[in-house]
Amino acid sequence: MPRDGAFREKCGVVGVYGHPEAANLAYLGLCALQHRGQEAAGIVSSDGHVLVSHRGLGLVADVFPEEIVRRLRGHAAIGHNRYSTTGASHLKNAQPLVVEYGRGGLAVAHNGNLVNAESVREELEGRGSIFQSTVDTEVIIHLIAASEADTLEDRVAAALRQVRGAYSLVFLATDKLIAARDPRGFRPLVLGRVKGAWVVASETCALDLVDATYEREIEPGELVVVSEDGLQSYRPLPPAGGAACIFEYIYFARPDSLVFGRNVYQARKLLGRQLAREAPVPADIVVPVPDSGVPAAIGYAEEAGIPFEMGLIRNHYVGRTFIEPRDAIRHFGVKVKLNAQRGVLAGKRVVVVDDSIVRGTTSRKIVKMIRAAGAHTVHMRISSPATTGPCYYGIDTPTRAELIASSHSIEEIARYITADSLAYLSEEGMYAFLGGRRPGFCDACFTGRYPIPFEETHAHRQLVLFDALEER
Ligand code: AMP
Repeated sequence: MPRDGAFREKCGVVGVYGHPEAANLAYLGLCALQHRGQEAAGIVSSDGHVLVSHRGLGLVADVFPEEIVRRLRGHAAIGHNRYSTTGASHLKNAQPLVVEYGRGGLAVAHNGNLVNAESVREELEGRGSIFQSTVDTEVIIHLIAASEADTLEDRVAAALRQVRGAYSLVFLATDKLIAARDPRGFRPLVLGRVKGAWVVASETCALDLVDATYEREIEPGELVVVSEDGLQSYRPLPPAGGAACIFEYIYFARPDSLVFGRNVYQARKLLGRQLAREAPVPADIVVPVPDSGVPAAIGYAEEAGIPFEMGLIRNHYVGRTFIEPRDAIRHFGVKVKLNAQRGVLAGKRVVVVDDSIVRGTTSRKIVKMIRAAGAHTVHMRISSPATTGPCYYGIDTPTRAELIASSHSIEEIARYITADSLAYLSEEGMYAFLGGRRPGFCDACFTGRYPIPFEETHAHRQLVLFDALEER
């Protein structure tokens, strides 16, 4: 079993070099990337002599009051948003990780997941390494410390040659910032400029907020070093086939971002259009599951020529800390976030568009809610293929056993979520927005084709829908 908190992380990273208010920019960048992780946030800054860090559990704006950001002095900074559902929300697992080792201070922030972290860690522990956290990222720090290479970039390269998996990384030493992306490029990482300073971030929405211009992606397998000497690019890792995460387009990234060189909003709209072509149905209105289902629903409505309506309204002000009453109100969980509008839905044949079904519990509650608001019929349309496998490369998904589509047919899922009909986007349709080409994407969660081998540690238990879950 993975150690608690060590796996299934989806995160956002940011780095700034050469700006008098570097920590402030990193803070703003993290705010823009809040959707990539809400559990913990951290920033480490450098004034050229020492690293100063602050990390905390919670949202960026809560972790960083103004006086703390002011304390993070210097011209360089890196930051991290963390999300992890498994196990410990311990502060020790929050990033950036910061260490003092033989050659000075070093901080690292990681988005992704290393598939061989456990075995590398065991080997290092066997040789006497003492780990401070349970996050996979810490093995990279130990490998850097153990390297005998001269420069930090060579030590980072030596460490990265020993790990496998998904990583978009930013490192900060007192005198330089390093950004690196794994050879397959699973997770995004972009480079921008603002007033002579360099900015790296998971998504371009972070560049927009700090008025940085988008320069380019950090390429798969590239290592970029920014210091007083300017920016240098290295290719220390052997090239591998591209495996950019298709799920960044479907659900994860912010719609206003450019990811892997393309606008996410447009991609989602085209996914919705394709879905309407593949799975049309007579209906009066198209209703998105907000927020993530909105662009695909707009695309579906445009293609089908059916009016788009906000039949579900989302409350944006409730977070994960919300306390649910035990018995009084059933299905409270979704209700606190979403409310079905009777005035929009009553008597209507409704197409509900969402980006994905994971366990099926949300869809089931939503369909019931729409029916209770008086809808005549409810057709569920999903702008991705059925999610049949967990992600081992940095998206937080439950175990295979908990994924409803891993063990149930579409008809069974439709029955479970109580929809009049259910349709997913086809595998080919998912690539229609790329002109049908599939250049270098990872779609393992839909196809089971995993580009890098891993060890599946969880048993293949079958999810029993109509017994255990009936009353949820
Ligand atoms: P479920 O009830 O488990 O089927 O959840 C489905 C909902 O979760 C959909 O509305 C998706 O937008 C959303 N979703 C999909 N993938 C993820 C993820 N990795 N983390 C959080 N939410 C997700």
